[in-house]
Amino acid sequence: MHRQSSTPPHIVYLALGANLGDRSASLRTAVERLRDAVAVERMSSVYETEPAYLLDQPHFLNMALRGRTTLDPHALLAFLKRIERDLGRAAGPRYGPRTIDLDILLYDSLALATAQLTIPHPRMAERPFVLAPLAEIAPELVPPGWNRSIGALAEVVRGNGDVLVRIGDLIGAQNNT
Ligand code: ADP
Ligand code: MG
Repeated sequence: MHRQSSTPPHIVYLALGANLGDRSASLRTAVERLRDAVAVERMSSVYETEPAYLLDQPHFLNMALRGRTTLDPHALLAFLKRIERDLGRAAGPRYGPRTIDLDILLYDSLALATAQLTIPHPRMAERPFVLAPLAEIAPELVPPGWNRSIGALAEVVRGNGDVLVRIGDLIGAQNNT
């Protein structure tokens, strides 16, 4: 007899972004913190995004991941906000810019819109820095309410606005599986 590891039921896709301080370290720390409630199954590469007009704003590092969780959508959002708050506090002044942005892109095949939370993420369809990493880990997926796959839309919006550079894998962050 051996122990069965139970698989959390809900599949979630999350977007991570960082544009202050040690951006790679922020992504790495965020992934480690996420593991408290999200079993990470796939991670995209990391992309560097050049701001389109506010050129003196630091560039972003962006990535996406797929994981499994037992949390419901609002509990997941609260969990992400706690991590954002903790990381922001550690690295920056109060009310200063955030060192990390954590967004829920997709949650199973759920479509939901409340004052606090909209899923699929309302702006993901026009953001190359979300679609490019997401297309790496879920190219065939068609989000609820869409008429095409993430991979297909990523092709369409590629090069819209922001300049995206794939800079490689997040060093030191392994999948759970
Ligand atoms: P953005 O991520 O668009 O740059 P913020 O991180 O400042 O903006 O998010 C502002 C608010 O958006 C959050 O406080 C949260 O309540 C709300 N929100 C709505 N839908 C989502 C979602 N799918 N993922 C994360 N936050 C969301
Ligand atoms: Mg956000």
